[in-house]
Amino acid sequence: MYRPDAGAVKATVATGGAGAAIASSVAGTPGIWYHWPVRDDPEWLFDLDNTLYPPENGLFGAVDARINEFLAAHLGVGGDAADTLRRRYHDQYGITLVGLMQEHGTEPQHYLDFVHHVPVGDFLGPDAALRELIGGLPGRRSIFTNGSRRHALAVVAALGLDGLFEEIFDIVALGFRPKPDPATYRTVLGRLGAEPGRAILLDDLARNLAPARDIGMRTVLVGPMAPSPVADFSIPTIQDLPSILPQLLTRGS
Ligand SMILES: [Mg+2]
Repeated sequence: MYRPDAGAVKATVATGGAGAAIASSVAGTPGIWYHWPVRDDPEWLFDLDNTLYPPENGLFGAVDARINEFLAAHLGVGGDAADTLRRRYHDQYGITLVGLMQEHGTEPQHYLDFVHHVPVGDFLGPDAALRELIGGLPGRRSIFTNGSRRHALAVVAALGLDGLFEEIFDIVALGFRPKPDPATYRTVLGRLGAEPGRAILLDDLARNLAPARDIGMRTVLVGPMAPSPVADFSIPTIQDLPSILPQLLTRGS
């Protein structure tokens, strides 16, 4: 991919909400091209759902509803029981699918096709500013998701981010060992040939950041929640990433 200047990222500082406070205290003037030394190009790992887009748009809720539907039909339980089960599997196994595979021998592709059969384009549209932001980052960018590759491709396409990501690590590629299983972070870094100190993980769930930080990756919590001790940085939305870039990129191994 053509990158006019690998060491420069255009800072588009947030102007409202909690992001503004963080941005103004860290990044300074909006609209300036910041230059700083990047010792080694970083390896960016972006979670997908509720990280590349905010939870308020309803897409992830629609997927959760499909998961409940699947549970109800597959296990013959009512809606409330399905919802309780989904939450238990999520807490106990990382994702619902692994709970179903472990406890009921569910065939994973059937499940993935069913739960991700949602009209992604009804929830997400092209985001030119996000494309400029992510496309301008130095280093390689990949998706690291507990969902399916097909869903990741649909989200990336709907947001207009095609061609920006080197790899998509989905639950199948991860051997059905979802985040926060510590082994899966090593798997991803191994496939990228990257040392942990060069990698940056952005995720909306603090529990997914903890194992990454344990092995020396830089971690960014994305979302409106309180900062977490397992996050090196916290930003309210992905659009606030420029506000922390100078510190994030110069910190490192
Ligand atoms: Mg997420």
